[in-house]
Amino acid sequence: MPAEVSVIGAGLSGAEAALAAARLGVKVWLYEMRPHKMTPAHHTQALAELVCSNSLGGEGETNAKGLLQAEMRAAGSVVMHSAQAHRVPAGGALAVEREGFSQAITQAVLAHPNIQLVRQEVEEIPAGTVALATGPLTSDTLAQQIKARLGSEFLGFYDAAAPVVLGESINLEKAYRAGRYAQSDDYLNCPLNPQEYQHFYTLLSQARAHTPHDWERLEFFEGCMPIEEIARRGFDTPRFGPMKPVGLRNPHTAEEPFAVVQLRAEDRAGQLWSLVGFQTGLKWGDQKLLVQSIPGLEAAEIVRYGVMHRNTYLNAPRLLEPTLQLREHPNLLVCGVLSGVEGYLDSAATGWLAGTNAARLALGLEPIVPPETSMLGGLVRYLAGANPNNFQPMNANWGLVPPAPTRGKKADKRAAMYHRGLEAFTAWLEASHPSDAAAING
Ligand SMILES: Cc1cc2nc3c(=O)[nH]c(=O)nc-3n(C[C@H](O)[C@H](O)[C@H](O)COP(=O)(O)OP(=O)(O)OC[C@H]3O[C@@H](n4cnc5c(N)ncnc54)[C@H](O)[C@@H]3O)c2cc1C
Repeated sequence: MPAEVSVIGAGLSGAEAALAAARLGVKVWLYEMRPHKMTPAHHTQALAELVCSNSLGGEGETNAKGLLQAEMRAAGSVVMHSAQAHRVPAGGALAVEREGFSQAITQAVLAHPNIQLVRQEVEEIPAGTVALATGPLTSDTLAQQIKARLGSEFLGFYDAAAPVVLGESINLEKAYRAGRYAQSDDYLNCPLNPQEYQHFYTLLSQARAHTPHDWERLEFFEGCMPIEEIARRGFDTPRFGPMKPVGLRNPHTAEEPFAVVQLRAEDRAGQLWSLVGFQTGLKWGDQKLLVQSIPGLEAAEIVRYGVMHRNTYLNAPRLLEPTLQLREHPNLLVCGVLSGVEGYLDSAATGWLAGTNAARLALGLEPIVPPETSMLGGLVRYLAGANPNNFQPMNANWGLVPPAPTRGKKADKRAAMYHRGLEAFTAWLEASHPSDAAAING
């Protein structure tokens, strides 16, 4: 019997996974429930439909998404190929004409002799080697199955995330390390005096929120109330809540500040820091203004904005290997938004790796992980190794890879990281991936 894999869901990650696996010579059963059953966000039956914006992120060698795009181009990504063929002018971003883009991917899948597309909702995870790629709007029945298989506490149904900033952009002459009542020094604390708090509160009260679709409206638990909602309850409510200064004496002044914004490390290397209790659905421009009004964060680089929306994703650090296999079920791989990434490109990139590794497992080969200096390598290592206690989805950013090998201007450092990552990724591809594929394909 030929080696086989199943891919569930034919969105950005599933289409990429199916083609990556098929190219390695395995038979792929690709399941997609549309058009028989639609999600609340999809409107067509095309594979890899872009449900909202038509942008795959900024391009170029100073852009983290630019590095991921280059890596995916090197890997032969169908998403990158179709994006190139259907691109539209968009300044420094890679934007596409959405129908042509999705049609090209649909055609590539349909034309591949190793792929059988099955238009059917999957309600039970099939046996064998499987890549789950059902995305943020995974159908309810399958979501229940995943919950039952992996544990209900490991599957989130909405994303209530706070902004994440790059560690190197925090001013440590103002922010100080301390835990409440000096119990630890795990947190960074940005102190606000009464005038600074007043300014911050005014900005927060005036900031504009995203308007969610009806089906995206969420009932909030007290524990993850958006910061703008907390502020609506009164001037002092934030500083008696997430901005509480009690027990956080400022070593620069030896006093407790009027209010404090705490930051918690998101990764072991301390390159990414999230604002504790600052989950928010504010528009991104207003979030930036607000974050940069906080003492110590004036020059903060926000690598992930806060969001409040419906989503379905796993607590990746509790469950996943960097190969995108589930630790407890190594024949089950997860990619796309379900695996804890966000963004079209990031979903496709994890799809490529999950499809590659699913095929390798089916062929009796070891699964592979891209190098840590590559953006995809950094992203999957983050999924497997992030802080599991407050895990929130992540997308490509410079905090995921080791710091620049050179000193100098920010743009030069980014360019050095870009070239280092791309060289490592292409060398890795040549060393591990195509040679195996050539061997497999005879
Ligand atoms: C409303 C919304 C707007 C977004 N806007 C953007 C944006 O502007 N830019 C951006 O970069 N990212 C955006 N995202 C985030 C993310 O990048 C996209 O959702 C992306 O499509 C995720 O890729 P995926 O492969 O994980 O999921 P999807 O592309 O959604 O693919 C999952 C596929 O699985 C199918 N499926 C689900 N359950 C089953 C089942 N049981 N059996 C068979 N098939 C099933 C679905 O029909 C779908 O085709 C948005 C997400 C949402 C929900």
